[in-house]
Amino acid sequence: MVQKTTISVIKCDVGSSAGHHIVPKPLLDIAEQHLKKAQKQGTINSYYVFHAGDDLELLMAHEKGEGNSKIHKVAWDTFQDAAKKAMSLKLYGAGQDLLKTAFSGNVRGMGPGVAEMEIEERRADPIIVFAADKTSGSAFNYPLFRIFADPMNTAGLVIDPTLAGGFKFEVLDVMKNRKVVIKCPEEMYELIALIGTTERYLISRIWRAEDNLICAANSTTKLSLIAGKYVGKDDPVSIVRAQHGLPATGEILAPFMHSYFVEGWMRGSHWGPLMPVGLEYSKCTIFDGPPRMVALGLQISDGNIASDSHGTPLINDLFDDPAFDMARQEAMEYAAALRRMGEFEPARLGAETMEYTTLPQVLKKLRRRFKPA
Ligand SMILES: [Mg+2]
Repeated sequence: MVQKTTISVIKCDVGSSAGHHIVPKPLLDIAEQHLKKAQKQGTINSYYVFHAGDDLELLMAHEKGEGNSKIHKVAWDTFQDAAKKAMSLKLYGAGQDLLKTAFSGNVRGMGPGVAEMEIEERRADPIIVFAADKTSGSAFNYPLFRIFADPMNTAGLVIDPTLAGGFKFEVLDVMKNRKVVIKCPEEMYELIALIGTTERYLISRIWRAEDNLICAANSTTKLSLIAGKYVGKDDPVSIVRAQHGLPATGEILAPFMHSYFVEGWMRGSHWGPLMPVGLEYSKCTIFDGPPRMVALGLQISDGNIASDSHGTPLINDLFDDPAFDMARQEAMEYAAALRRMGEFEPARLGAETMEYTTLPQVLKKLRRRFKPA
């Protein structure tokens, strides 16, 4: 029988120190305790707790499928407890992303971000988990396009016949809450037409076209649309599968050789350059950024994350590498250029996106003073 395993990454900003910088150790410890208990009880098989800047990230491997209420409850209880601790320490934004109070079986729509993928385990199943801070779900549009549709990035699309059938992209329209599936290479231009509008369209899932093998799953929460106001950027996560008829790990990492622009950064209101970093630098500083992303490599093995003899998961900190120094340098050069612009577009996001920030409160004050011109 084929082993079916689910990888769930559920994340939440439950409070941080100092300001929006990092998730402090006492909160990571609480998450560790909760997931260890869930593992002992047999709810999950393996886990890894980490943080992307001020977001607490729970990576879990289990056999309960996607959207399972027991798994989501583990995450919800963890976040509740961590938020309580954050409140007792008077941390910044304690409980910030927990938008609802009563758990009803699934954390989707309640504030936390979720990326989940149930896979039928192959002979070897390499997985890369990306997690970003100070940006939104559309931060993955550009690299995922490069990885799964751009023959100039992914050599396999050209020289490996097992990739030649192309990939299908599910694209979510977050404004109208509807989705569409686009097939590449045939509809590549249409795909770019949509996902180039990063304020509105997000890639949510990708499948290999010939057999619908799942290849990528993203978190797509729009916190501002749930809450109706700015409550922090979505700080997305993505799970990407590699090798054996899929892009190689190196092809998945290749788009990050250069920095690129994403929405988010200070107050979720600015364009900023994405900086790929190792876990050690998964923290935001200058202008609450620049927006950062970590990449964790792992192998799935019989329902678990492949682990050492002590049961510690083997996690590869993929951006912890001088190979990404150039992207980091570029990010700082772009950051400096944008910050010279202050609050003038294009440094600040466009008016439509700013609707969901605190800017309308400022403009409201002036409304009555306008006279016909
Ligand atoms: Mg964050």
